[in-house]
Amino acid sequence: MRAASLVRRGGRLAVIATVAVLALVTTTIDVPSAHTEATVTPAVVPAFAGAELGHAATSVRQAPLICVDPGHSESAPGMIVTVTTVDAVGAARERRLREVDINLDVARDVVRRLRARFGNDAVVMTWGEADGRGRAWEALRGPTGDDKLDLMMRGAFCVREGAQSVVSVHTNWFGDAPNGIYVGYRDAEDRVLAEAIHSVLFDAMAVDPAGEPVAGYIDYGLDPGDWFLMLGFGSRDVPAVILEPVMMSNADEARRLLPVIAEAPDGRRAQIARVEAQAIGDWIAATLLRER
Ligand SMILES: [Zn+2]
Repeated sequence: MRAASLVRRGGRLAVIATVAVLALVTTTIDVPSAHTEATVTPAVVPAFAGAELGHAATSVRQAPLICVDPGHSESAPGMIVTVTTVDAVGAARERRLREVDINLDVARDVVRRLRARFGNDAVVMTWGEADGRGRAWEALRGPTGDDKLDLMMRGAFCVREGAQSVVSVHTNWFGDAPNGIYVGYRDAEDRVLAEAIHSVLFDAMAVDPAGEPVAGYIDYGLDPGDWFLMLGFGSRDVPAVILEPVMMSNADEARRLLPVIAEAPDGRRAQIARVEAQAIGDWIAATLLRER
């Protein structure tokens, strides 16, 4: 639910005002954490070096390489669309598809894949751990109902956890606009991560899981939208991006997105998760792990 920023850029005044509010929130948010910001340094990274060879991280708790944020929340689920499916005997059935459910399903699979590659401690989630562990900013503060405010609180949470990069997983909605990919970022530092993921994701998503080209799938590119100041401010010096690989407002795409990963391990959601995890992981290996 971020496509609106393609046509809605805030002015400088709005940005200054929002950053001021954000500063207020980040100073008052109370996230219990054993980690201080001092842990956010390349010096803690070498323990993950073996990850490239498939070894798990050492037993010493390290600052996470990445914080994965499933976009939206149960109480503020993002966009909801109704998808009509027809079963084998021709009976039509309407099903509700919520953005938060797609995001959480995909994000959990992204996290599972990244942990398999870099070790359990290498990844932290803003909420939605599969085992029910609550690291949620939401449980600490509660959603405000304001997407921008929520986003910056998630960024602040990631920083408090010591994460060295932040990726927010979303699914786009934009009325009758063509299906396509869009990656949001904040500034030049984020753009390297944004470009690394975008280039891989666009090529992959233009083809469906069965190998057929996705009709009308276009590239909305990279957008340094003011929206992403919200995520970026909280994460300050760490790269932060928002991924919007497909449009759930597109009827064909919505149908592809219906099956959950557990029931359709070769489906569209799994395809998105696999490609996002691969692109994020390759960027981690080429940057965070190489800078030691
Ligand atoms: Zn969204």
